[in-house]
Amino acid sequence: MSYLTVNRRKALLGGALLAAAPALLAGTTAARAGGTDLPMRAVARFSLGDMRLTVIDDLLFTVPTAIFGANQPAGSVDKLFAKYGLPQEFANMQAQVLLVETGDAKVLIDTGMGDITLPDSTPDNGRLFAGLKAVGVAPEDITHVFLTHGHYDHLGGVSQNGKPCFPNAAHFMPESELAYWTAAPGTEANFENLMIGYANDKLAPVKDMIKTVKDGDEIVPGITAIAAPGHTLGHMAVMLTSGDESLLHMIDTSVHYIVGTNEPTWALGIEHDPEAAVATRRKLFGRAVEENLLVAGYHFPFPGIGRMSQKEDGTYLYTPVSVA
Ligand SMILES: [Zn+2]
Repeated sequence: MSYLTVNRRKALLGGALLAAAPALLAGTTAARAGGTDLPMRAVARFSLGDMRLTVIDDLLFTVPTAIFGANQPAGSVDKLFAKYGLPQEFANMQAQVLLVETGDAKVLIDTGMGDITLPDSTPDNGRLFAGLKAVGVAPEDITHVFLTHGHYDHLGGVSQNGKPCFPNAAHFMPESELAYWTAAPGTEANFENLMIGYANDKLAPVKDMIKTVKDGDEIVPGITAIAAPGHTLGHMAVMLTSGDESLLHMIDTSVHYIVGTNEPTWALGIEHDPEAAVATRRKLFGRAVEENLLVAGYHFPFPGIGRMSQKEDGTYLYTPVSVA
């Protein structure tokens, strides 16, 4: 990353992002270069029992590392990252959309960033569509879309230019998430209101197609929504089961594979309920260890599939596994 880029980002994150919020709220999904024609960057395909899973790398964005330790003294995250040989100050984050093919169903778990471009991010996002094309799946072929929560990097690809991107799909979303993210944003120029503005725009064209789900509901047989509150109030994880194989997709229970696991009590800056988020991390990590489940993390390094173990001090370790 160049000096210039870092300083541009610093400047934007330091205030211009907030200053830009009202304009962005008025015209949230401004067109960006590339659109859905961006080339695919990475796709991984593997089986879980009789299910075929495809992980599509949708985006790359850069965030200040401090966001991962919002309730900790300044420098805590960089100290942890130094221990693991990771860069300081800024972290690159990917996001992976999961396509599950089971029986006649083609189910998308979240939809990536679509055409949303944040002022401080590169336009390197919305690659879901190129990834689907690469594996021979047309948007019209998608039968179900599950939006796990209302953040822009999960629902950005659900609609574009006022039209659903997956016109034949039944759409699903946690009930409280749908209510929260379709309510009008507050007038204060802050990041939460900016995100609500994006969600308003993206959800409007599909609102009538959305069925709400609660803890334990199945999207299709073998794909179960699991309450995982904290990251947002209605945030959900997903359990996939086929035959005797299972995968727990933790979505954003932990957005960083080192921080959430090593330091489950550290709050992410944008968490709706940090206490609930800690409880959810302990619950899902614990379940993954006890049942020796494969796990997935939406923002873990591609393809974001691994296993969890518990360390002697009670915290957790994420170990990536090869799925190819
Ligand atoms: Zn996310």
